Amino acid sequence: METKLADALQPVYDVCVIGSGPAGIILALEYSCLNPGKKILLVEYGGKEPAGKNTLDSSIQLKNPLYHHKPEECTNKGLGGTSATWGGRCVMWDEVDFMDRTETNGASPWNMNLFKEINQYVQRASKYFECGEAKFNLHDLPQLNGHRIAENFIEGIVTDSAVERWSIPTRFGPRYERDIVKRPNLTLLQGFEGRDFSSPDACGKCKILCIREVKSQKLYEVRAEAFVIATGAHEATRILLRNTRLFKNLNTVPSALGKYYQGHLSGKIASVRFSGDPKKTDYGFIRNNAGVYLRRRFQFSNDFLLKQGLLNTAIWLDNPLYHDPKHRNGAMSFMYLAMLIPVLGKKLAPPAIAHSITKGQKHAVNEHIWNVLRGMPGSLLTPASIFYRRYIQKRKLPGIFLFNPQNYYALHFHAEQSASPLNKMELAVDGETLVIDYKPSEADVNSVIKLHDVLNKWLQQCGCGALEYWYTPDELPEVIRSTSRGGIHQSGTTRMGCSSNTGVVDGNLKVWGTDNIYVCSSSVFPVSGQANPTFLLGAFAIRLANRLSMSIKN
Ligand SMILES: Cc1cc2nc3c(=O)[nH]c(=O)nc-3n(C[C@H](O)[C@H](O)[C@H](O)COP(=O)(O)OP(=O)(O)OC[C@H]3O[C@@H](n4cnc5c(N)ncnc54)[C@H](O)[C@@H]3O)c2cc1C
Repeated sequence: METKLADALQPVYDVCVIGSGPAGIILALEYSCLNPGKKILLVEYGGKEPAGKNTLDSSIQLKNPLYHHKPEECTNKGLGGTSATWGGRCVMWDEVDFMDRTETNGASPWNMNLFKEINQYVQRASKYFECGEAKFNLHDLPQLNGHRIAENFIEGIVTDSAVERWSIPTRFGPRYERDIVKRPNLTLLQGFEGRDFSSPDACGKCKILCIREVKSQKLYEVRAEAFVIATGAHEATRILLRNTRLFKNLNTVPSALGKYYQGHLSGKIASVRFSGDPKKTDYGFIRNNAGVYLRRRFQFSNDFLLKQGLLNTAIWLDNPLYHDPKHRNGAMSFMYLAMLIPVLGKKLAPPAIAHSITKGQKHAVNEHIWNVLRGMPGSLLTPASIFYRRYIQKRKLPGIFLFNPQNYYALHFHAEQSASPLNKMELAVDGETLVIDYKPSEADVNSVIKLHDVLNKWLQQCGCGALEYWYTPDELPEVIRSTSRGGIHQSGTTRMGCSSNTGVVDGNLKVWGTDNIYVCSSSVFPVSGQANPTFLLGAFAIRLANRLSMSIKN
């Protein structure tokens, strides 16, 4: 064994964090700062060299590939984890997500107290994500709150003041590598897979984690007072499914383990035609004084969602479908054609995002070329300016939203999924392969349709505009189901629960039946909300670092 490796495996660490995505890095750095006298080990599967295929992704099997992205499109391995390709959209969750609803079967420790508590950590989280002040509503940002999303819009059951914030996007590996290396109490081991825990003692304490060197497949042991599984939702679930000995003191494996897999339904089924002045429509980004990009969206009031039993959903203004040349926009056609060029397309966007633009097909190329020619010189100048802001500047333009003089915009929905035990992850008979069974339910799809109808009626009532659907009512369910691919955002499969009868981890993220194993992943979220998961996960990582600081005594 190399001396460096032998030295790294020598101590009994205070905390061993498995996985170095945003969750693992935030947790390790926070704990290290709060406890300069304690020793932390960060174990990461991905090596220093970027790897193409890896054994984790290739041992995931999808039962319904139509509804789920390929495993390798869902995560990245290496220091920084999936932040290597994430979009950087930072969204705060809503009160309704923490309220007692049928979606959580009344068995979740998510409640208003936890919502208030987690809010104490969001400002600190926003520093890691580099997304500015942790304020997510224009009512709290009077300097940016000049006007409504479109002329004549009135806030009520539909709101237009919630904003998403955009990270640089921070790539946690390169951004925090130096901080990790510089911290004297933090050791990083790359190229090692966290595998199996020793059996817990009668008090639920595990002392040893077996790790496997990815290159040589050699096994080593790591000792720690506490272990945190921060390997992303798929792998956190797989580790617990493989380590059922952890539940020995419960005499049974929590029935929720691997179940209630949720993501978001996401796509476009309608456009909105606003009736007011096109120049008064807030279709693009708002930038604050520090240059951080923000963007507003339609949401629905907590009371309304609760009363109607509908799932939390955000809907934002978007461009028409890129691949359909009927938009007659030369710049969009040029960008669509660029995405189709195999090598260039891969450089412009990660596969999952590229797919949402091209829909995986070459479509009406001649008509697109005609759009480009007709729209010259704007067809080239607009993409050139976007290219500079999106790929060259340090704080990247997070997306491309183009002004429409007809005041006509596509609508993009991003909707919560109900927590169904039928959406699940299990181990195959080989005890290694993770089998994912995932499909949006009828309730999920119906909620998307109903909320579009609510928005349509509301806009008409305000005299602000109206929706124009792209499909007949009969076509909508299958279109929504098949365009909403899961796997990019993952929650539910190691859900928080008030007991091991209803959850896998407790309110402090500690695995039920153990005394020192924690999960820090969006897999602990019992619901999926409308929000992207990573920002809230960062806040939970900071909370856990604080909790561990209190619980691990000298
Ligand atoms: C294309 C794309 C765009 C996205 N955009 C957004 C967005 O805009 N906003 C948002 O909120 N979210 C977004 N996400 C989701 C976001 O990337 C994840 O929520 C986030 O990265 C999860 O962080 P994590 O630390 O839990 O896991 P990860 O980032 O997946 O990191 C887990 C790490 O653990 C390592 N690991 C796994 N298993 C083991 C093991 N057994 N032993 C040791 N190490 C292990 C992995 O190699 C990896 O480095 C996006 C995802 C994708 C794919």
